[in-house]
Amino acid sequence: MAKDIPTLYGSLVFNDKVMRNKLPKDVYKALRKTIENGTHLELDVANSVAVAMKEWAVENGATHYTHWFQPMTGFTAEKHDSFISPAEGGEVIMEFSGKELVKGEPDASSFPSGGLRATFEARGYTAWDPTSPAFIKDRTLYIPTAFCSYSGEALDKKTPLLRSMEALSHEAVKMLKLLGRDDVTSVSTTVGPEQEYFLVDKELYNKRRDLIFCGRTLIGAPAPKGQEMEDHYFGALKPRVSEYMHELDEELWKLSIPAKTKHNEVAPAQHELAPVFETANVAVDHNQLTMELMKKIADKHGLVCLLHEKPFEGINGSGKHNNWSLTTNAGDNLLNPGKTPAENVQFLVFLMAVIKAVDDYADLMRISVVGAGNDHRLGGNEAPPAIVSIFLGDELTAILKSIENDTYFGTQETVQLETGAHVLPHFTKDTTDRNRTSPFAFTGNKFEFRMLGSSTSVANPNMVLNAAVAEALHQFYLELSEADPEHMTEAVHAMIKRAIKKHKKVIFNGNGYTEAWVEEAKARGLYNLVSTPEALAQFTSDKNVKLLTDYHIFTKEEIFSRYEILLENYVKTIEIEAKTLHEMLAKDFLPALSTYSAHVAQNAAAKKAFMPAISTAAEEALVTELSGAYESLSSGLEGLETVLASVQAKAESDTMQNAANMCLNELLPLMDVLRKTADAAEVKIPDELLPYPTYDQLLFSV
Ligand code: ADP
Ligand code: MG
Repeated sequence: MAKDIPTLYGSLVFNDKVMRNKLPKDVYKALRKTIENGTHLELDVANSVAVAMKEWAVENGATHYTHWFQPMTGFTAEKHDSFISPAEGGEVIMEFSGKELVKGEPDASSFPSGGLRATFEARGYTAWDPTSPAFIKDRTLYIPTAFCSYSGEALDKKTPLLRSMEALSHEAVKMLKLLGRDDVTSVSTTVGPEQEYFLVDKELYNKRRDLIFCGRTLIGAPAPKGQEMEDHYFGALKPRVSEYMHELDEELWKLSIPAKTKHNEVAPAQHELAPVFETANVAVDHNQLTMELMKKIADKHGLVCLLHEKPFEGINGSGKHNNWSLTTNAGDNLLNPGKTPAENVQFLVFLMAVIKAVDDYADLMRISVVGAGNDHRLGGNEAPPAIVSIFLGDELTAILKSIENDTYFGTQETVQLETGAHVLPHFTKDTTDRNRTSPFAFTGNKFEFRMLGSSTSVANPNMVLNAAVAEALHQFYLELSEADPEHMTEAVHAMIKRAIKKHKKVIFNGNGYTEAWVEEAKARGLYNLVSTPEALAQFTSDKNVKLLTDYHIFTKEEIFSRYEILLENYVKTIEIEAKTLHEMLAKDFLPALSTYSAHVAQNAAAKKAFMPAISTAAEEALVTELSGAYESLSSGLEGLETVLASVQAKAESDTMQNAANMCLNELLPLMDVLRKTADAAEVKIPDELLPYPTYDQLLFSV
């Protein structure tokens, strides 16, 4: 029987409907005001909400509650407390107070803080984010929170995002007022993250240390068939995958996560899930939950979900497309070109603000997607290059050009703007919006930031985008507020003209995968930060510090602490990879190599003994080759040990930046050489002697 999806949807969420049913009217009103306008919540209101939440949670089988937060580990964190409270006569009652709802004090000392918080004062607290609804998972009431130090420094990814959303709303409202929109009092950031992932068989996965410890294969020769036939993209779902996706959808729907689209991706065993967009902070929470459920449900189906950016060499890795736009409280999408010229003015101002923002802070945008895993994708002809540029499509580019040059635009039906420029009355969605090679593309009524890695939180990229656009709007506001209000339209026109001249260098509609673009981008003076250490080195530049501190998103100390944490994370990731590679080669691969070459040598000797005249040249060549591989892998492993020790020494007694640079310039290239040697030998060894499943099995067995 078909399930009743509308009833299922949100059944584990303390949503508006539940609130309306469970809360006294005045409490409900006060809470809505807090959610919509960010007003302070009084303790008696919080108490009343807590009682209702607990009642609802217990009715739905919950015994515990947890503040749920997003520290800088890359995962979410939770600490469960039960509702029980001992009562007289050896009984217990179920209790939950407003204080417990609003604030928690997890022991913060073991979360990364980049030196912000000395361990002796490890007081961190979690603060309820009432704008992201509470939900039930594993018989526990989850309360989304922000995580701060006792002195107010952000220790998580959520707090800076919330601050950036506020900053952007403030600047956007100011600008809209100037343009004559008095009806708008707040603007929210909307985000729809398309999530890519791989599914592999659990039994096979469990036989590979690299997948277990690193989430990606460190050795492994390509399968005879990769993605060259282009037969997987949008292909029919295999029954096991389809079962998995159905269950995933239902579990997501129960949590009000609007999973909408699912399909096979380009690489074998690769898939994608896209939700309907939501307000940024909710989308961030929901994306974290989606990733968590993807893994958990895979396990139930005998599968493992890989969220690493590059699990397999030679085929595409996984990314996340961050669709982003701005919506006013009046309900209009500010990046919608609109139907009338007046709306077009508003659109052009916001469009231009995004272009300026991306040009001015391209380095920060690249930094917002750093990570050892993502470095394997960016620039690898499967994902956008590490150069941040904007794809606008032909029509929009032409419109901006007409403003820049005061020329008449339009072969189609056009209307003259009050500003004197000619634009399409109703901008038609550009047919060339399928340029997959652009890292930042305008797709009709939103921008799609495509540089994100599959495993990373969408919090940081949106935080940077929001902050940069807030600043661009602020600059525009300063320019326009000097203008004579009688002649605002001319002032807007002149401002856009100046801005397009200055920032058009970041617009690129061509193929971003070519070497020619890399050259051209260099000539245009655009950043090409190909690796995490190179990108992070720009993080603390004056310009970036100024932006982030001006909008109170970070303090200077917070920026430096995050810089340290990100570098340390990079170094640790590569150290773990190097150690895992060492183990696999030393303990698994070399013994197999040795066994097989001994086996071939013995056979050759037996042949010779049996028939002295017979040739064993082929066997000898093979043994020579295998022994050569054995030799170079053995000495390569010694080299790896030496460099690894130097990296560790640097991380302890030199700067983390230098340790990261050494990982990039010495450790990774060495690992690459080892991999090439091992992969060349692997194809000579029979499967039954290989100590781990091959790419053939991993990619084509589900
Ligand atoms: P396409 O497939 O052409 O890239 P879709 O309309 O299918 O575009 O959207 C892809 C993703 O973009 C979905 O997650 C969708 O919810 C999201 N999206 C659509 N409109 C917006 C918007 N205004 N703000 C943020 N995300 C959006
Ligand atoms: Mg898309």
